[in-house]
Amino acid sequence: MKALVYQGPGRKAWQDKPRPTLDKPTDAVVRLLYTTICGTDLHILKGDVPEVPAGLTLGHEGVGVVEEVGDAVSNVKPGDRVLISCITACGRCPACKRQLYSHCEDGGWILGHLIDGTQAEFVRIPHADNSLYPVPRDADEEALVMLSDILPTGFEIGVLNGCVKPGDTVAIVGAGPIGMATLLTAQFYSPARIIVTDMDPARLEMATRLGATDVVDAREGPAVDAILALTDGKGVDVAIEAVGVPASFDVCQSIVAAGGHIANIGVHGRSVELHIEKLWIQNVTLTTGLVNTNTTPMLLQTLQGGKLQPAELISHRFDLDDIETAYQVFGNAAEEKAMKVLLIAD
Ligand SMILES: [Zn+2]
Ligand SMILES: [Zn+2]
Repeated sequence: MKALVYQGPGRKAWQDKPRPTLDKPTDAVVRLLYTTICGTDLHILKGDVPEVPAGLTLGHEGVGVVEEVGDAVSNVKPGDRVLISCITACGRCPACKRQLYSHCEDGGWILGHLIDGTQAEFVRIPHADNSLYPVPRDADEEALVMLSDILPTGFEIGVLNGCVKPGDTVAIVGAGPIGMATLLTAQFYSPARIIVTDMDPARLEMATRLGATDVVDAREGPAVDAILALTDGKGVDVAIEAVGVPASFDVCQSIVAAGGHIANIGVHGRSVELHIEKLWIQNVTLTTGLVNTNTTPMLLQTLQGGKLQPAELISHRFDLDDIETAYQVFGNAAEEKAMKVLLIAD
């Protein structure tokens, strides 16, 4: 089969690789129908995630068809169409018992990180019973790919950790795929205002289309000043960091109102300066996290009920064989006006 193989910092190739087989009775092998590229894959290629070994297949998102299952798998069977979760969960360890699947003792984020991932024709999924979700009847399978990672991440680590409530003023700093997923799912709770800031006018335009009440173009002046002006100097109830650099974290610290929440989603490669000397008296809560995907069943329901339209995040479609072109487009997101690139296997 073909797979997108990481070959060390800066290098990757779409190359032949042995087709995965069942390794444990709890495994399934899935033939991919759709997959996509995540900002995290670009971080890996830059060398920011050194634990990823050369030779690994990248990717942790996708929808596919079950090819074969181990003897201990009972929730899915060959021929079933399934959503692949970016998080593998055994369902039995102490972390899984707390729904802290990201810290499963025999799972967590391993796909495309520690074991071969989904940017391939086939993938082996450990603990298939807890890591695959049957595709609902008549579901839009392209849209479903957004539920592997970005929607649960934006929802759990942004919206839920940030305690978004009806009437709140929310700011989302960064309008990439994760910021957009946060924007879509924040609307479950009817915040009064959702302010989105970014430096890319095409992304801000998309944010307006997807429900932002205000957008702030950070190229036109300090985002902090603009957001404070929009809120009569009070700041926002929830500041959601969706970039992962010190500057965007600083914006969040400067715009959070008294009693507010800073919900950090961004993957940070460097330390940030925490302004505890200003925040301590403000009754501010700061949260971080890696997605657990414990909300995936609920997100599937909202998708099926038409309350969530993640297909709008798909900006480009490519054949799976063209994945190297897709990487170029996704890596050049501003010029290409790329959000999520969908890869379609034939
Ligand atoms: Zn991801
Ligand atoms: Zn577990």
